[in-house]
Amino acid sequence: MSKLTNKVALVTGGSRGIGAAIAKRLAADGASVALTYTKGKEPADAVVKAIEAAGGKALAIQADSADADAVTKAVNQAAKHFGRLDILVNNAGIAAGSTLEATSLEDFDRLYAVNVRGTFVAIQAALKHIGDGGRIINIGSCLGERVAFPGVTAYSSTKGAIKILTQGLSREVGGRGITVNNVQPGPIDTDMNPGKGDGAAGMHAMIPIGRHGHVDELAAMVAFVASPDASFANGASLTVDGGTNA
Ligand code: NDP
Repeated sequence: MSKLTNKVALVTGGSRGIGAAIAKRLAADGASVALTYTKGKEPADAVVKAIEAAGGKALAIQADSADADAVTKAVNQAAKHFGRLDILVNNAGIAAGSTLEATSLEDFDRLYAVNVRGTFVAIQAALKHIGDGGRIINIGSCLGERVAFPGVTAYSSTKGAIKILTQGLSREVGGRGITVNNVQPGPIDTDMNPGKGDGAAGMHAMIPIGRHGHVDELAAMVAFVASPDASFANGASLTVDGGTNA
């Protein structure tokens, strides 16, 4: 039996990048996996196909994390389709690089709508389904703990909010056997933060390991937190950043 056999997971923003790697890894560990996306039906379907080709079960659902009704429906649809919900991974996120002074109110509101409000709504909906042994895993950022360079203030503040939301919620649902943790990636090679090209070399100078991380290196931490092995990890922020924040 695999570690997540008979478990059902929902990964928001699971069509590309870190979310796609998490969806595939949780499926490889035995979970049935639902994933959300906004624009990219093709990549979302490709993740589903890859999971099914490996013998797993998956479902793609279009749901913008900024749309509370869509998020709630996606959570309920995932639970109905697979008959239960055990693991929620709040991964969907957007970034915007500009100084605080240059950040428009529109960009600020969108950052909070997707990164924070979307997480809040998904958790409220998921807690109606998740029971004993459940896992809520939020994807924060190493920038939620230490802002090592200028120009990412609003984005970083959304991830700081995720850290504290994780800590507060862990106190509220721990007694129900549900753990809540915050996995904080450092620079991971995705469309959001390409490991090659403009800016990558400067970033590598700040990372003791000297390179971007691979999506699978982040998914491995999420898989651990999702597993029964992590039963006493709760309210924690687990940083996977090659030492960026060291
Ligand atoms: P990508 O931009 O590469 O992928 C984002 C994924 O989320 C896609 O599947 C996208 O699907 C989906 N998505 C985007 N907006 C929404 C939305 N409004 N509602 C639902 N789904 C959405 O990002 P990463 O994989 O790099 O990042 C994933 C998470 O990790 C984010 O929370 C990010 O902040 C965090 N992170 C990433 C780091 C990095 O270096 N890559 C570092 C620190 C944190 P679609 O295209 O269909 O919208």
